[in-house]
Amino acid sequence: MADAVSVAADPGADILCADLVRIFKVVAGDGQGVEVQALQGLNLRVDPGELVAVVGASGSGKSTLLSILSSLDRPTAGVAWVAGHDLLTMKEKERVAFRRRSVGFIWQQTGRNLLPYLTGAENVAAALAVTGRMRGTARRARVAEVLDLLEVSHCAGRRPAEMSGGEQQRVAIAVGIANSPRVLLADEPTGELDDSTSAHVLEAMRSVNRELGVTTLIVTHDPSVSEHVARTVQIRDGRTSTEVLRSTRVDEHGAEQHVAEEYAVVDRVGRLQLPDEFVTALDLRERVRLALEPDHVGVWPGRRAEAVPDGEEKSPTTRAAVEREESA
Ligand code: ADP
Ligand code: MG
Repeated sequence: MADAVSVAADPGADILCADLVRIFKVVAGDGQGVEVQALQGLNLRVDPGELVAVVGASGSGKSTLLSILSSLDRPTAGVAWVAGHDLLTMKEKERVAFRRRSVGFIWQQTGRNLLPYLTGAENVAAALAVTGRMRGTARRARVAEVLDLLEVSHCAGRRPAEMSGGEQQRVAIAVGIANSPRVLLADEPTGELDDSTSAHVLEAMRSVNRELGVTTLIVTHDPSVSEHVARTVQIRDGRTSTEVLRSTRVDEHGAEQHVAEEYAVVDRVGRLQLPDEFVTALDLRERVRLALEPDHVGVWPGRRAEAVPDGEEKSPTTRAAVEREESA
């Protein structure tokens, strides 16, 4: 617990998840209650001003993560801090203020982001009105400013139905950043768009991140998003597994080279997940041998547990349980 507190007190990160767990209780067809572990000890740290994509297959826990980070849902266990707020202990009043001022969000369904009966400008103005920070001329100037930043000034007088999907999402980003949140969260913001429109919307998010310094997290099942961001975190079975960092280097001929390097994620107690293909290639199961070398760690397949008399292999824990049962 002391460990969790020291992580939680870390002031440096804008988004910090440590061992985050979310279990849903659902009733199965036979009427029995079953548990779905949507997040199984997820670790993620995003520093101020960073733009990070979280990529994972459908069902890997992306929307669950974003619902928690936007305080619409509560985690079952673990640590979750966003923009200086502890999402596990936050009271309802702080939650409302947090959602209005500290975070902006963009959802996949274009229809969920904007009020259909308001124009683009009115949608942005409504977001400003909720926090009451700007009125009159200041509010109108802010509306014009964010619509211009997202290159959708021409949508100021149009209702969502009169905008293209890409325009709706760019107006949605304008709404999301209107109150200058510290963190911008987007759940599959390009999920309903074609490829070229998607690229345009992602570039809009990138320029908002660059120009305003707003910490931005985009979750998506679309791996091509990683081409637009410097850091991509892979989520698998409710855990962050690998990360790809992209950088630009200038080679000896003066040409720009884009470099992408893949890393495994190590959590704060030193656990890491081996890639499936490594596990399969060397048949790494149950236990491995580790060796510390000057600049790396070696991993070798371990010896198998001896077969029990019935010919079935049992793990040490199963065997211990069997022995306990027999002696009882
Ligand atoms: P993704 O957004 O990556 O597709 P989700 O976060 O929506 O994944 O879902 C992760 C897992 O949690 C899935 O198995 C999903 O069925 C389950 N899940 C999500 N929300 C709920 C809920 N409200 N009740 C029960 N199970 C849920
Ligand atoms: Mg989802």
